Amino acid sequence: MTDRPLRPDTVAVHSGREDFAALGVHAAPIDLSSTNPLPDIEHGGDSYEAMATGGYPLPEGGMVYQRLWNPTVARFEHALAELEHAATAVAFSSGMAAMTAAILAHTAAGDGGTTGTRHVVAVRPLYGGTDHLLDSGLLGVEATFCAEDEVGASIRPDTALVILETPANPTLDLVDIAAVVAQAGDVPVLVDNTFATPVLQNPLDLGARLALHSATKYLGGHGDVVAGVIACDEESAAALRRVRAITGGILHPLGAYLLHRGLATLPTRMRAQQANAQRIAQWLATHPAVRTVHYPGMDGDPRGLLGAQLRGPGAMIAISLAGGYEAASTVTSTVELFTHAVSLGGVDSLIQHPAALTHRPVPPEARPSADVLRLSIGLEDPDDLIADLDRAFAVATGDTRAVHAQHVSA
Ligand code: PLP
Repeated sequence: MTDRPLRPDTVAVHSGREDFAALGVHAAPIDLSSTNPLPDIEHGGDSYEAMATGGYPLPEGGMVYQRLWNPTVARFEHALAELEHAATAVAFSSGMAAMTAAILAHTAAGDGGTTGTRHVVAVRPLYGGTDHLLDSGLLGVEATFCAEDEVGASIRPDTALVILETPANPTLDLVDIAAVVAQAGDVPVLVDNTFATPVLQNPLDLGARLALHSATKYLGGHGDVVAGVIACDEESAAALRRVRAITGGILHPLGAYLLHRGLATLPTRMRAQQANAQRIAQWLATHPAVRTVHYPGMDGDPRGLLGAQLRGPGAMIAISLAGGYEAASTVTSTVELFTHAVSLGGVDSLIQHPAALTHRPVPPEARPSADVLRLSIGLEDPDDLIADLDRAFAVATGDTRAVHAQHVSA
């Protein structure tokens, strides 16, 4: 490929495809081999040793076993790393497998961990699964949850990692990545970039050490893959690959193929879904059934993060309903175009109740309130999505005239 610097849309289409002409192919080959023939014991042993300790690229002798390394997975990793302005990336079987590996790589005792210390600072709010993983103590880690401006005060001599999400799940709170990095000092900062995607935000450019994605969401974009990936430097990647090889959380090559294909349309999908979300957020802000719209920039952005750190507000919206839990419950069971389901970031629109579902394991004091619904806006015509919500709000508020009007206009 060309040596000229390429713009993100071009990178999304071409990255991970550099060898296609030499291979004589136009679509990525899928290598499903669970194991690989070895030329001899010495070469196989060297490869095994290198990969089991996080080494990369492969030494002479090639591949050994899919849990250690797979070329189809590596194509996706390479492409995602380029989009995230990272040296490399490490892919996992889910976003939570990626988060688990990141925590283990930084906190595990012995030569597998980079520090062997067991304290993590986490800025709330976070995805419920991440909050629960840290709060449960399952990994033997002690977590201090704090607000963005309390990170510096929460850091201890044994702090191994700072974790944050921006925009955060589910309330779309924005966190100033550079400000947290400054407070963290030498402690590496992991940013969950799932909601923004590399199209809208590149955490490594702001000093973060690791950018994590639930690739299940926008990267795949079609609701048919569960995966995670972390973009980072080579040193962090070696520690992550080692954890992945030992604990077995590698991504399946079929999933990697779909994710790599998904990246080609990611910038276009993101912009189109964002345009729909902007329109729907404006409409929601005028609707009497909605008390508050949580959407980047809409309820104030005094630090100017939108436009600088985050290049656009994205396609996730949270709303607080004036009618509280009862209204939320009616809306989720009344919508017809929106699917009432967890997950997000696909081409079709989803709606869900964080307190009951995605954030159920979060302790009550940090759980989203019962009147909040989270909307993932897809690629449908925004007028159809607005009509769907309008009808559901009418049922929730008992405004049957509006329901009737909807049916007549349809
Ligand atoms: N991070 C965020 C922001 C998420 O929304 C999710 C899942 O919803 C995860 C991480 C976990 O990802 P996965 O479900 O792929 O394990």
